[in-house]
Amino acid sequence: MCGIIGYTGNENSVPILVEGLRALEYRGYDSAGISVQEDKIITVKTKGRLDDLAKKLEEHTDLSSGCGIGHTRWATHGEPSDRNSHPHRGKHLSMVHNGIIENYAEIADMLKKIGYVLESETDTEIAAKLIDSFYDECHDPLKAIFSATEIIRGSYAFAIIFEDIPHKIYAIRKDNPLIVASSENGGFIASDIPAILKYTRTYFRIDENVVAELDGANIDFYSSSRNKIAQPIETVDWDIEQAQKGGFPHFMVKEINDEPSAVRKTVSAYQQDDLPHFGIEKIDSDFICKFKSINIIACGTAMHAGLVGKYVIEKFARVPVNVDVASEFRYRDPILSSDDLVILVSQSGETADTLAALRLSKEAGAYTLAIVNVVGSSIAREADSVIYTLAGPEISVASTKAYSVQCAVVYMFALRLALARNKISVEQARKLCVSLQTSVPDAITNVIKFGSKIRSVSKKYINAEHIFFIGRGVDSYLGTEGSLKLKEISYIHCEAYAAGELKHGTISLISEGTPVVAITTQSNVCEKTISGIREVKARGAVVLSICTRSIAEEYNIPCDDMIVIPDTEIDDIDNVLDPFACATALQLLAYHVSELKGLDVDKPRNLAKSVTVE
Ligand code: GLU
Repeated sequence: MCGIIGYTGNENSVPILVEGLRALEYRGYDSAGISVQEDKIITVKTKGRLDDLAKKLEEHTDLSSGCGIGHTRWATHGEPSDRNSHPHRGKHLSMVHNGIIENYAEIADMLKKIGYVLESETDTEIAAKLIDSFYDECHDPLKAIFSATEIIRGSYAFAIIFEDIPHKIYAIRKDNPLIVASSENGGFIASDIPAILKYTRTYFRIDENVVAELDGANIDFYSSSRNKIAQPIETVDWDIEQAQKGGFPHFMVKEINDEPSAVRKTVSAYQQDDLPHFGIEKIDSDFICKFKSINIIACGTAMHAGLVGKYVIEKFARVPVNVDVASEFRYRDPILSSDDLVILVSQSGETADTLAALRLSKEAGAYTLAIVNVVGSSIAREADSVIYTLAGPEISVASTKAYSVQCAVVYMFALRLALARNKISVEQARKLCVSLQTSVPDAITNVIKFGSKIRSVSKKYINAEHIFFIGRGVDSYLGTEGSLKLKEISYIHCEAYAAGELKHGTISLISEGTPVVAITTQSNVCEKTISGIREVKARGAVVLSICTRSIAEEYNIPCDDMIVIPDTEIDDIDNVLDPFACATALQLLAYHVSELKGLDVDKPRNLAKSVTVE
């Protein structure tokens, strides 16, 4: 959550900071602000979007400085307001923060006792004033920062400028991302790569509890013993074009359109001779046979990809899979041992709860495998092995292409495991692997082509107050994701149920005109779902059926509207690849409802892209 940017160099930092924040606005957007060094530090900040900050800055046209920091906020402590916006001030410094200071109340008491007056309700201001109090004594920025972080508990990425240290930015992080980079234009600090991509493709990801000190020409890193240390340099393998909308009205629809190539690219990268191959010794060997059970841990959409993983791993490899929400898993004292494989799924690789679950699993002796999109992110670096999804940058808060490629990776992993356990023939595995690279992307493309049909069906839903999603087997997992996608960007209350569960309670909510989306891609259970459809229709529901062409032709589905997706057929294995095209149809349904309602599709209220707070 929250975007941090910093710039120091020969150019005016103000437009550079605002532009950097635009590239990071997906991370948080309830307030924004900048601080720049002139003779003293000047701060301009406001509640609202970046456009509100840009407007406020029009009143400060004379503001010009070669060094500054900026922030776009996702509030955790204190409502979104002008005074709670970042940056926050101490006597000597200005600071921006991403994260949560857990012991802020106790530090606040300490600060009040030594005369500090707090101006906001944020935990950030307390951390800023704590560093300030140490700096007041020692006038040594490194000493002040390390002394404060010894006391601070919680998660943070801080960027700090000091009034009496011109042209320098200091930064430190724990459990939250922060990168630094240098180019001929100057030095940069940022929460994520898109903010610096215009200037450079190489960057350093700062290790935890290392201070970065940068000016226009140099970047130095210091360990807590205040020795200079080196940090590995990394290179971005995607370009600015991929981080932009490319002619689409929203990032979400652009990213849905990226899905066919992202799935093709990801699957091709993890095959050899059309069989799964990850280039990771342990995953490619019989080592993966030794696990008695698998836990897939993730949050939100990534957790729903984990559910698809459960379906496909259990189906092909016959290993029991438990899927858990990371925020619950970490506190429920899970039973883990070295006989367990824990798979962590996260787009950003910085999801705070998933990172905590990873650490817990490692402590318990389990083997950890990360499925992550962002190269070099915390989860990627800390897991025993990592498989990168090759989705490229995903900017829209509602995840789409990242979900599709997470599913593609779990399919490939399931095939690898099934081969290692002799549960599938080489021939069948090869057929599936080829289809994942060819017919699956083609089926997704086909669904995208018929986007206008989905848009016209979507019109029916824009005034709905409640929408229910039903399905059975993997279709119920798809319903869960379809429901999340729709509710998060349309603000319509949506709930997903395994179709057989309806009559155990929820059916009492169905009345004349209640919209129900029924998913039937699986022929082995579609008759059961159709019975569920009849039950809701009998109570007045208006039903949208999302089904494969073969099921539409074979069964008379009692529905009011229908979205037909192409079959992704494999001769002797039924329907196993159909979830991909169905997920795309559900994503497009959510997109069009939100867009037709005139909502901010890419930046839905109260949300942010990368959930780096607990
Ligand atoms: N906890 C801080 C606040 O509420 C920072 C939140 C963020 O990461 O944006 O202001």
